[in-house]
Amino acid sequence: MQLSDLSQWVESQHTVVESALKELVEINTFTRNTIGVDKGMDTVSKLAQSFGFTVEVINQRHRLIKAGNGKGRPRILLLCHMDTVFPPDSAFQKYEPLGDGFVQGPGVGDIKGGLIIGLWSMLALRELCDDFDVQMVISADEEIGSQSIQDWYLGGHIGADYAIGLEPGFPQGELTADVDLGVVYQRRGYGAIYYTVTGKACHSGTAHLGVNAIEAAAQRIIRLHQLNDWENGISVTCGLVNGGISPNTVSGEVKGSVSWRFETQADGERIKREIEKILTDTYQYNPDLDLHDSIDYHVDTLLQPMERNEANQNLIHLVLEESKRLKQNVVPIARGGGSDANHTSAAGTPSICGMGAPAQGIHTEQEKIYLPGLFNRIELLISVLYRAVTGALETHS
Ligand SMILES: [Zn+2]
Repeated sequence: MQLSDLSQWVESQHTVVESALKELVEINTFTRNTIGVDKGMDTVSKLAQSFGFTVEVINQRHRLIKAGNGKGRPRILLLCHMDTVFPPDSAFQKYEPLGDGFVQGPGVGDIKGGLIIGLWSMLALRELCDDFDVQMVISADEEIGSQSIQDWYLGGHIGADYAIGLEPGFPQGELTADVDLGVVYQRRGYGAIYYTVTGKACHSGTAHLGVNAIEAAAQRIIRLHQLNDWENGISVTCGLVNGGISPNTVSGEVKGSVSWRFETQADGERIKREIEKILTDTYQYNPDLDLHDSIDYHVDTLLQPMERNEANQNLIHLVLEESKRLKQNVVPIARGGGSDANHTSAAGTPSICGMGAPAQGIHTEQEKIYLPGLFNRIELLISVLYRAVTGALETHS
């Protein structure tokens, strides 16, 4: 096949693509439904093997699908997952055409449409060239942070030169045939800390005999919120606070949380240090008792950002060039939430995300995609991969 035959080839795949998508959507792969997730993994593995790809199991439950002869560079890792957020007992289980090219179903956009886009792109690439190395990882538990495969990502995964996430291509407005679709150049990182401030409780009639934990927590909260720096993409939020037992008691204990979002690993580490400094300082002192307030805390979550950098911008430019050539409306966007691309980026691999299906209402029972847009995205990803593996992108490692 020549690149100029690509549109025709994609068209010839419509029926098989749609039936594969329907089959996958109708397998319930809620994260905690491990039997369903494993069944989805087996179904995709069989499909990949029928295409002649090799399938490896990683960290017991996840899959790595390898296309190409492994000789070409750059090596590219597509990022996907099998799990969804819809439990087996929810009413939302079916793949359902809505007319005008829209289809609804659990995970149809996040991320089974992306899975299909990835698989068919690898298939087409094999028809277009010989020397290439494109692999797709499928996480079994991305919706809970890819807990059981995170070490594989952070430990260097396959040593890819680039990673491309197949999370949905987010429409910039209502999902229509010609709405702009996003390609994600940056995802912020996220951290969360839970803490307990301890003072000394006493009757409010003799307040001088206590150490007020509510005031000690409030002092911290005011200082924590001063770390907000929107211009540099840093937001800090005290989202939970709970303390006291009655209006007439000096509170001896307050429990709370602080979370922060950031664009670069360096900012994330710096803000974490500043938060810890604010938390561990003391704010209340009772000289009669020689007693300060004190704090216990633990870092609950620390997800590194998918950083914007020169190398991932080169990949974004390639996506924009190819979308323009194909007359598709694609715009670069930043997203607040994380995906597995955060992990590959933290491992030092230039990463982009949002190259999956045009989707709306993900994680709700109105989740839908625009099917002609999914075929466009297959064509776009194939074109980007083809350009990448035939010399448009540098190899870093
Ligand atoms: Zn997803």
